[in-house]
Amino acid sequence: MQYTAPLRDMQFVLHELLDVQTELKALPRHADIDADTINQVLEEGGRFTAKVLAPLNAVGDREGCRIDPASHAVTTPPGFTAAYRQFVEAGWPSLTCDPAYGGQGLPVVLYNCFSEMLNAANQAWYMYPGLSHGAYECLHAHGTPEQKALYLPKLVSGEWTGTMCLTEPHCGTDLGLLRTRATPQADGSCRINGGKIFISAGEHDMAENILHLVLARLPDAPAGTRGISLFLVPKFLPDAEGRPGPRNAIYCGAIEEKMGIHGNSTCQMNLDDATGWLIGEPNKGLNAMFVMMNAARLGVGMQSLGLTEAAYQNAAAYARERQQMRSLSGAKAPEQPADPIIVHPDVRRMLLTARAYAEGGRAFSAFVALQIDRELSHPDAAARKEAGDLVALLTPVVKAFMTDNGWIATSEAMQVFGGHGYVVESGAEQYVRDARINMIYEGTNTIQSLDLLGRKVLMDNGEKLKKFGALIEAFVEENEGDAAMAEFVGPLAELGGQIGELSMEIGTKAFRSQDEVGAAAVPYLRLVGHLAYAYFFARMARLALAHAGSADPFYKAKLATARFYFARLLPETAMLLRQARSGAAALLEMEADSF
Ligand SMILES: Cc1cc2nc3c(=O)[nH]c(=O)nc-3n(C[C@H](O)[C@H](O)[C@H](O)COP(=O)(O)OP(=O)(O)OC[C@H]3O[C@@H](n4cnc5c(N)ncnc54)[C@H](O)[C@@H]3O)c2cc1C
Repeated sequence: MQYTAPLRDMQFVLHELLDVQTELKALPRHADIDADTINQVLEEGGRFTAKVLAPLNAVGDREGCRIDPASHAVTTPPGFTAAYRQFVEAGWPSLTCDPAYGGQGLPVVLYNCFSEMLNAANQAWYMYPGLSHGAYECLHAHGTPEQKALYLPKLVSGEWTGTMCLTEPHCGTDLGLLRTRATPQADGSCRINGGKIFISAGEHDMAENILHLVLARLPDAPAGTRGISLFLVPKFLPDAEGRPGPRNAIYCGAIEEKMGIHGNSTCQMNLDDATGWLIGEPNKGLNAMFVMMNAARLGVGMQSLGLTEAAYQNAAAYARERQQMRSLSGAKAPEQPADPIIVHPDVRRMLLTARAYAEGGRAFSAFVALQIDRELSHPDAAARKEAGDLVALLTPVVKAFMTDNGWIATSEAMQVFGGHGYVVESGAEQYVRDARINMIYEGTNTIQSLDLLGRKVLMDNGEKLKKFGALIEAFVEENEGDAAMAEFVGPLAELGGQIGELSMEIGTKAFRSQDEVGAAAVPYLRLVGHLAYAYFFARMARLALAHAGSADPFYKAKLATARFYFARLLPETAMLLRQARSGAAALLEMEADSF
């Protein structure tokens, strides 16, 4: 399979849609970054991902990871370590990191595009450095000055990688059940005992050390989530200069056989009196880990965006080449024995579905990434709060809506290949298998939906939702009188009103039973996702309309994609509204024994 980074569309989103250069001017940390620098990084990233990582995607899937049970060592697929060396040598791990620890301090909104490329080229490979970045953010936010000085430069340079060790066999979604124990020692360290499962990149041969961030319980910790602490457990215990020393007692016992992302090691990790150090305050581990989990949630959305784009590109290329049947409206390539399948309306529906989910997701996630930059470094506290509220509201939507769409899009792209898509050789089925995990880990999409509706909307009396709604209302008002925009503005305004009403209805029902929230949450999140995509497609359509006379085919295609989105994907909201309103009774009526 081929992959070319969609630089033109990324530049459109960053420069024309979001005008990031002006936005970043308001943030002293990024005030000097200009469009040329952004474009250069994107071009360089596009080259690296297409040339170095994409060719390893099928190899990683085919060869997978291997464990030596005697030494517990895990070998990654051929080419993975060499690619990682190139990644580190080019300085990619440090792109957005704090210059105080060797980082380049570039904005998150730029990294977001690079993250899409990395995932498009090779999701399984990128999970190794991707998790390190989450560990960096967690330590940066919650580590002591000494911990930061010792460990952050290693994560920033990419010399060491990181993991997040939460899950245990009996405890996934409900972390309150976790049993791993930490016993304080006289020297300030802890001895950690327990077993973790499903730990991505838990063991591998790509870096000289691995920093595990492990959730465990201190003695006498309160039961449930209020008794969980976070610990730093290095694979090799470093000396004061950060040189890896003795092997710590955290070992990979086995790696999982799984449906996709074969190139990434999913490890069972055994901690047998392993040495660890507390990060942050005792019993506040879940708060500290949330920094990593939020970063990871956005990262998972980007995994599916990448796969969507890569699957789309290959399906589109195939549809232009593959000849079957004639167009219903008469031969389009009479000189050939049959027309290319791209003439058939339904093949176009499949391609446009993937394309619209890619373009909508790119615009939406870039907007959220820009809000993260504003939240992190806007000089005005009110602006930071406003941005932070939008990030909190939209993070579960990035995670769940984009990964559900990734599953739909990769499946549609595979369908374009017909039977050849089902056969391994085409590469199309790998995208489907790889995309499926993204709906499950980092909190299943159901859990994201409960977070959105329960915590971010209802518990907040709709305040954060109103902030996002205000942006949409302002856009609607600005464009109401424009006849050319009516096909976009009308449905957008209608959906905004419907979601407002629905939120209040569910809030009222929730007083009777919280099961009403559980019953409505999944369709509710999809509705909010569509509201966001409709808003960004409407904004993109306005830009495209402004270039109506342009010879550049980009704008014509953008308008066509926006029209497709409004005509064929947005109408799903009618069904979702009915589902969200249908209540808990239809789900709870059946006795558990009757299933
Ligand atoms: C390939 C892979 C990589 C992973 N990487 C990591 C990693 O690096 N680190 C790590 O710590 N973990 C990792 N995980 C674990 C992953 O995060 C969990 O599998 C996931 O959070 C779900 O937990 P579970 O599997 O125990 O499912 P369960 O929690 O048992 O859930 C089962 C089902 O019940 C539903 N459910 C549960 N509670 C509720 C509720 N309150 N309301 C409605 N529905 C509910 C869930 O949505 C799900 O559909 C990974 C898993 C896989 C497969």
